[in-house]
Amino acid sequence: MPKTPHNAPGLHIDSLLAHGGGGHDPATGAVSPPIQTATTFVRDEAYELIKPGHIYSRDDNDLYHKTEGLIAALEGGEESRLFASGMAAVAAVARIVRPGGTLLAQSGIYWGTTLFLRKFCARNNIALVEADACDLEAFLDEFSVTRPDLVWLEVPSNPYLKVADILKISAHCRQTGALLAVDATAATPLILKPLSLGADLVMHSATKALNGHSDLLGGVVTTRDAASEAWTFIKEERKLAGAVLGSFETWLLLRGLRTLSLRVGRMNQNAAILSDYFERHPKIETVLYPGVAGHPHHDIAKSQMKGGFGSLMSVLVKGGKPEALKVTGALDLFQRATSLGGTESLVEHRYTIEGEGSGIPENLLRLSIGIEHADDLIADFDQALSAI
Ligand SMILES: *Cc1c(COP(=O)(O)O)cnc(C)c1O
Repeated sequence: MPKTPHNAPGLHIDSLLAHGGGGHDPATGAVSPPIQTATTFVRDEAYELIKPGHIYSRDDNDLYHKTEGLIAALEGGEESRLFASGMAAVAAVARIVRPGGTLLAQSGIYWGTTLFLRKFCARNNIALVEADACDLEAFLDEFSVTRPDLVWLEVPSNPYLKVADILKISAHCRQTGALLAVDATAATPLILKPLSLGADLVMHSATKALNGHSDLLGGVVTTRDAASEAWTFIKEERKLAGAVLGSFETWLLLRGLRTLSLRVGRMNQNAAILSDYFERHPKIETVLYPGVAGHPHHDIAKSQMKGGFGSLMSVLVKGGKPEALKVTGALDLFQRATSLGGTESLVEHRYTIEGEGSGIPENLLRLSIGIEHADDLIADFDQALSAI
């Protein structure tokens, strides 16, 4: 068998990423894999499969294998499964909890997840407990009161950029028999590896930085233990419930992953420069970014996150809603759009999205920092902040 980056020992993950998770296509020598558009695969005269696993595309195909193998390697996990969107991945994990069970979820996380968990749990007679995972003592106290089957964290959380202590919470989960799932979308697996901190499952919206080009919807779940009951269920559900990623999206995702390390490096660098800039700007009240020394979870972030603190950041503009909207409206380079992790920088007024009662400060702007030149990003905020 020819030596390929996939089986060469001791390679850095950056190198594995650059080669799209493996060398050329063995059938043709193509350096980029073909897009597998076939939905079904023939059997031979003896009714044997031509290639094991290749029966029907909802079950499996080579492109899924390759992409899932690369993400599992990135996470330091045993197996990964791609889903049709980040929410499909979130839903696949939530469905582990049976009717009558309890789900303990971090409060103040991605709004879509909160909404889904509330509706899903209400409909399925599952007790949903929402609590601040960064008030560690109170969060751990919830275990003895509510006895959760599944604990749900988002690290760092969106849009508050809280960093929960995965190591301590996972230890408590193990003691009490709860499973721990972590949505690490805002960090990427290059920065944060929840499985190495004791989590059982890690989720990502691949729509965000994994693909990185704002041109596909996708999700992925990775397990620490491929033989676990939870993982067997998740795999089976993906096949039976059918929330698979399309072949073209899988191919695009694998292409996006080739540059993940470069993109994350530049985004980290830009975010660090911008957070410094905002910290010193007289019209910014607070910078919510775990890389900032004054951030309440900076020490935990430093111990858990490697090589940077990610590209998601929120700032509180001095003033209220009118000032925040004025700054947003004056930005030229930052595009006014939701989502995160793309090459282009985005700005969002979360209060407008989540509304009254959400608790989102009216002066909060959520920023996704892209790979532009940092000077241009600063110049854009310089002129926009001078509008107030
Ligand atoms: C975007 C996002 C999701 C949902 O992913 P989609 O791909 O939009 O379905 C889940 N969790 C977090 C933290 C996200 O940012």
